[in-house]
Parts: sequence; structure tokens; C-alpha cells
Amino acid sequence: MKTRLVFLGPPGAGKGTYASRVSIKLGITHISAGQLLRNAVKHGTALGLKAKAYMDEGELVPNEIVVSLMKERLAQPDAAKGFILDGFPRTLGQAEALGGIVGIELVINFTAPEDIIVKRLGTRETCRKCGWIYNTITLKPKVPGVCDKCGGELYQREDEKPEVVRERFRVYNEKSKPLIDYYRDKGLLIELASEKGDEPPEAMVEKVLQALKA
Ligand SMILES: [Zn+2]
Repeated sequence: MKTRLVFLGPPGAGKGTYASRVSIKLGITHISAGQLLRNAVKHGTALGLKAKAYMDEGELVPNEIVVSLMKERLAQPDAAKGFILDGFPRTLGQAEALGGIVGIELVINFTAPEDIIVKRLGTRETCRKCGWIYNTITLKPKVPGVCDKCGGELYQREDEKPEVVRERFRVYNEKSKPLIDYYRDKGLLIELASEKGDEPPEAMVEKVLQALKA
């Protein structure tokens, strides 16, 4: 069974959901790059403080800081059993740096048609008060526009509006192409496509487990 994994995919393709579920099934560690960065900043670690200085200026956190954070995280004992990287690497440079830290066994690129992603993200609603996420088709609140948990108002996030989602999708595809080519050339890449967009997550998780056994 392959257990040193990278999950790639555009926003809305579900890689975070699949990473959580697969990591629980296999007893391996789900490492979300965004979460890792937020935790480092919150706890004021040396790298977290460096990252925060850039974030406060509205700048991207430089590669070497992100790579160092990941290196620290991968050195922790729980990662020895296996891991899924989610949101890292994002660039070819990061992928090359990762290769110097640990050997990756499989990279899964989750894909879905643009219209499916627009529909999936475009039907999301978020609670202004507690942040809980609903979906006007698959996960409706009991009363439209009102949070079941706290009674807060539900709204559509700016970055989940259809035209913004289409732009994010285009930018993602353009930026991730060198990364995907790099892993394909190494023979590490497989693609799992969500064709209709309404498959239950369990079906995709099953496909992932099959691929890890192969
Ligand atoms: Zn709420």
C-alpha cells in the first residue's frame, strides 16, 4: 500500500475532503499546507513569525518558508506512518524541494469539469457568525438563509461567485501544469475524474484506495 502521497486538484474538486477521508481510513496523517501555515502563525513559531511578516504586508509567503514548514512537519513522528499532502507542492520549485526531503510514492490529480466546479462552489453558503458551510442543493439549512447551528445569516462568499470560480479554475490550470507534467514524467501521477459531480465522496475514496494498492 502506498502511503506517501500528494493530492492535487483545482479548488472545488474535493481534494481536501478526499484527503481527510482517506487519511482516516489508512491511519496516516493529513497535512494541509494552509492549516500548517495558519497554525504556525497562531502559535508564533519562528517560521510562523517570518511568514506572518509577509502575510501582514499582503505578500505571498516565500517558497523557502513554506518548504521549511513542510520539512519540520514531515520530520514529526506521526508522518513516518504515511501522509497525504494537500495544498503542497503548488509550484515546480516546491515539488523539487519536496523531492529532496522525502520520496513521494503517488500523486493523485483530482479533476472535475469546470461547470461542475462552478455549480458545486456556486451553491455553497457560509454562516456569517460561525462559519459553518451549507449547500443549497446537497446540504440545505432547515430555514433558507439561516444557520441551523447558531441562527446566523448565510451568505455567498465572494470567491465562490461563478465568475470568480471560473477565473480561479483558469489560473489554477495554468499554474499547476508544470507541476503535473513534472510528476507525470516521473511516472508518479494518476488522474481521478469526477464526471458528474454528484458521486458520493465514498465512491471516490474507494477509487483512491484501489489506486494505492496497485
Ligand atoms: Zn452559524
